[in-house]
Amino acid sequence: MTSIVENLERVREQIAGAAAKVGRAADEIELVAIAKTHPAEKVREAIDAGQTLFGESRVQEARAKIPELPSNLRWHFVGHLQKNKIRHALPLFEMIHSVDSLGLAQDINRIAEEQGMHPRVLLEVNVGGEGSKFGFKSETLRAEMESLLALPRLSILGLMTIPPLAEEPEASRKYFVQLRKLRDRLQTEFHVDLAQLSMGMTEDFAVAVEEGATLVRVGTAVFGERSKPRRE
Ligand SMILES: *Cc1c(COP(=O)(O)O)cnc(C)c1O
Repeated sequence: MTSIVENLERVREQIAGAAAKVGRAADEIELVAIAKTHPAEKVREAIDAGQTLFGESRVQEARAKIPELPSNLRWHFVGHLQKNKIRHALPLFEMIHSVDSLGLAQDINRIAEEQGMHPRVLLEVNVGGEGSKFGFKSETLRAEMESLLALPRLSILGLMTIPPLAEEPEASRKYFVQLRKLRDRLQTEFHVDLAQLSMGMTEDFAVAVEEGATLVRVGTAVFGERSKPRRE
């Protein structure tokens, strides 16, 4: 088994390699090390390797883990956010990647107002159109974009997607292209800046970088296999 330090080095090299291949600068891409199911001690190993940006997909787990770790780390929430967890999530996370409905966005806006916060969020798009997945359908997002942009407390910084599970990294490419094109279209249509594209996980982050990802969410390739496999 390789160490987390070596894993991080390899993942960073792969990000840089994929960026170079398409003429992007490696520093346009941030690696979010997804620590879900892994204990604080593993996060500390990653910190020793210079990693300061981490992701979690469950508020309860994050509430236990984050206070055990240095306060200078940055945390992103990437899982489905239940409405009754918003209040706890907002103070813990500097970005929520997974705003997956107008209703959730409105609830976040309301609670952020109560808490005096201005959360930075991404809109999750279900580009594969799978019935089992959270996220806006592309057409729904276009229809609801005005309402989303009218929420004064939310800084909407871009889009996020989780493509359908696939055997081959290349199978994700068309979904990443779709997300980028949807972003470009929304920017033109609504005159907004949606600079962030959160796409790419352990299996396909190199392809995502080639297609314009600015945030890659990598868990297994950094921390190793999770003991309890879990589909979010
Ligand atoms: C778990 C998770 C990841 C990381 O998955 P890996 O395949 O282990 O890299 C990325 N994004 C989301 C939303 C996740 O829930």
